[in-house]
Amino acid sequence: MVQLIDVHKSFGTLEVLKGVSFDVKKGEVICIIGPSGSGKSTLIRCINALVPVTSGTILVENIEVADPKLDKLALRRKVGMVFQQYNLFPHKTALQNVMMAPIHVLHQDKGEVEERARALMKKVRLTGKEDSYPGELSGGQQQRVAIARSLAMRPDIMLFDEVTAALDPETVKEVLFTIRELAEDGMTCLLVTHEMNFARDVADHIYFTDHGVIVEHGPPASFFSAPSDPRTREFLSQVL
Ligand code: ADP
Ligand code: MG
Repeated sequence: MVQLIDVHKSFGTLEVLKGVSFDVKKGEVICIIGPSGSGKSTLIRCINALVPVTSGTILVENIEVADPKLDKLALRRKVGMVFQQYNLFPHKTALQNVMMAPIHVLHQDKGEVEERARALMKKVRLTGKEDSYPGELSGGQQQRVAIARSLAMRPDIMLFDEVTAALDPETVKEVLFTIRELAEDGMTCLLVTHEMNFARDVADHIYFTDHGVIVEHGPPASFFSAPSDPRTREFLSQVL
């Protein structure tokens, strides 16, 4: 579903990604972990063309993301993304936030979009909050609206960049629960996360990045129990 081949990214003279390759198969849950500044956000942003790569290839299904003639809308329909900052429209209700892109970007029928948006609100367990404004919702609730908003575009893969990092501990759980349910429904998910328990329980595969390279990767069982690289061991000793 997603394939990265020798992806490099520099900002000026700073090389942030130094040849990253991996792939994500349909239905897989992949977690990327690593120290701050190691290039995780840059990597995930390259996949939906928020950041142009310097060299290398990124394929999302049959779309070549680095193609200068890239159809960004076609890519955005396949790839949903949720950030640490949920950036909901403050003057729109939760339901209106979820409905906005399908109506204004895809010009879909309002009645159908609303029906789907209500179902998505239910899916993220926010039934009853449809008419609330973002300011009336907790951080965890707003983040779940942001997830529903992404799902409203019916993506094939969801990218999550530290979506729980700004939340209170008690609301982190509910957001992780939503993502876990999505994964169990078969959604292909690529997450940058510091939630090691979540990664251990839910991920099919873990990638550990440091200074723009993948240092080590593997299924969670071996990754967490027998990390082989000293950098991985040091990182895990700090976060576990
Ligand atoms: P992480 O998500 O792992 O913390 P990032 O991908 O955000 O790492 O950042 C990796 C490095 O790239 C950092 O040194 C950061 O300062 C730099 N960086 C990220 N985005 C930009 C940008 N738009 N312009 C210049 N430098 C950037
Ligand atoms: Mg980041």
